[in-house]
Amino acid sequence: MSETADLIIVGAGPAGMAAAATAVAGGLRVVLVDSGTAVGGQFWRHPPQEARPAIATEDLHHGLREYRALERELSAGRAAGRLDLRLAHHVWSAVREEAGFEVHAVDRREAPQETAVTLRAPRLLVATGAYDRQLPFPGWDLPGVLTVGGLQALLKGGGVAAGSRVVLGGTGPFLLPVAAGLAARGVEVVTVCEAAGPLAWLRHPGALLRNPGKWAEGAGYAVTLARHRVRVRPRTAIIGADGGDRVSSVRIASLDPDGRPRPGTERRIEADTVGVGWGFTPQLDLLIPLGCELADFEDGNTAVAVDDGQRTTVAGLYAAGEACGVGGAPLAVAEGRLAAGSVLIDSSAGPAPGRRTPAALRAEVARQRAFARALALAHPIPPGWSSWLTDETVVCRCEEVTAGAVRAACAEGGARDHRQVKQLTRAGMGWCQGRMCGPAVHCLASPDQRAYTPAERLVATPVTLGALADLDENQQETNKEYR
Ligand SMILES: Cc1cc2nc3c(=O)[nH]c(=O)nc-3n(C[C@H](O)[C@H](O)[C@H](O)COP(=O)(O)OP(=O)(O)OC[C@H]3O[C@@H](n4cnc5c(N)ncnc54)[C@H](O)[C@@H]3O)c2cc1C
Repeated sequence: MSETADLIIVGAGPAGMAAAATAVAGGLRVVLVDSGTAVGGQFWRHPPQEARPAIATEDLHHGLREYRALERELSAGRAAGRLDLRLAHHVWSAVREEAGFEVHAVDRREAPQETAVTLRAPRLLVATGAYDRQLPFPGWDLPGVLTVGGLQALLKGGGVAAGSRVVLGGTGPFLLPVAAGLAARGVEVVTVCEAAGPLAWLRHPGALLRNPGKWAEGAGYAVTLARHRVRVRPRTAIIGADGGDRVSSVRIASLDPDGRPRPGTERRIEADTVGVGWGFTPQLDLLIPLGCELADFEDGNTAVAVDDGQRTTVAGLYAAGEACGVGGAPLAVAEGRLAAGSVLIDSSAGPAPGRRTPAALRAEVARQRAFARALALAHPIPPGWSSWLTDETVVCRCEEVTAGAVRAACAEGGARDHRQVKQLTRAGMGWCQGRMCGPAVHCLASPDQRAYTPAERLVATPVTLGALADLDENQQETNKEYR
């Protein structure tokens, strides 16, 4: 299969939905591609359409009015024949060609069967979001230890409340909606361990005061947590998990200002499920091979660099949402609309329709970005986190590389970043390609704590040989069309 359009958007989360709605309303023919089975991305994750009457998850969401408005705009675009929505399509490569961009995806609607799809358009907008950032600790590889994003995905996408007695840990405000959602579904959330101090936010009062909506959201979680007697412990971390064939308890400890466990504060808590999250890492798999410039973000990650219209440094390539830096769904929506407005201007299709001018959208993005920066500075990775690793702690779970092996690669092998550690130990070379261990290996190896940039991957998701063989036929078809 081989298709053409004015614009391809990869990612149908808040950023991609907003971008598609704006571009379609402006008259462009758009292909919106997402690997999931429903639009909405992580924030508005829903069960697949056919399962919805049986699985109620609406009460777990925020901003549903905006989601429904965007859904209506997308439906109108489909009815007008200008929007081609491709769900269950995973893009594994995007290539810059003379005439624009060629996007390679696998259609997994009939999984396990995969069909290769090639899409092409003069312009490409990447809105692929972010994924959970993890730090290892002894026992984190036991069954029953999940990412907080994973717990949230089970809850919102399948109505499944994992576990009956749960401990959450890590840093950042995302711990709160997960705790509140689990508690609202009857799970006993024993405690939430937040590594940051209780007053971390007060260092950035300006960004807080300019975003009253965030206060309201935070207050809502606080009420839910208080109602369910969930205790949030500041300056505390989960430093170990124990159990036989699955987790049965965690060890938590108070942290000193460097993030090291304070002697004598360690205590054990029984739990059948543990959720851990240290913020997010932008999903740059498609953007790095396209040669975009990257920029350091305050949370210790690199993100794609964009101008004030969401244009990357590659002509015809735009980005929106958390690929440009983690900042929450309202920022992603504003960036999506702004990016699509730039596409309309750059393709001489006229100004973007809608009530909000580009200047108003730019102001909204700047305000939300300031908030995101304050958030990142208030919730850093504690510098002393590696002190809770033993040499036996597995860091790369795919290749079973221990912290001791990573430390030896640095001390004896001279490795100074995650790429060099990978060459010496195979950490990051397995099935997940370093998505789970990359940030942690980087922190262990990088003495100057530079921002983390994922390794370049030419293939963004595992693809079958059958799909690659299909691609060869598509390629011949593509070449015929270009002639
Ligand atoms: C697991 C997880 C859970 C989260 N839950 C919440 C929450 O409950 N509340 C909250 O405030 N914030 C949450 N966040 C933060 C949240 O991601 C953002 O605030 C918001 O969803 C960002 O919107 P986005 O459009 O930039 O990205 P996303 O919402 O992440 O959307 C990106 C979309 O791109 C698709 N995609 C990525 N790569 C490809 C590819 N190669 N091919 C095809 N499709 C692709 C994904 O399937 C996804 O639908 C969560 C983040 C994660 C990682």
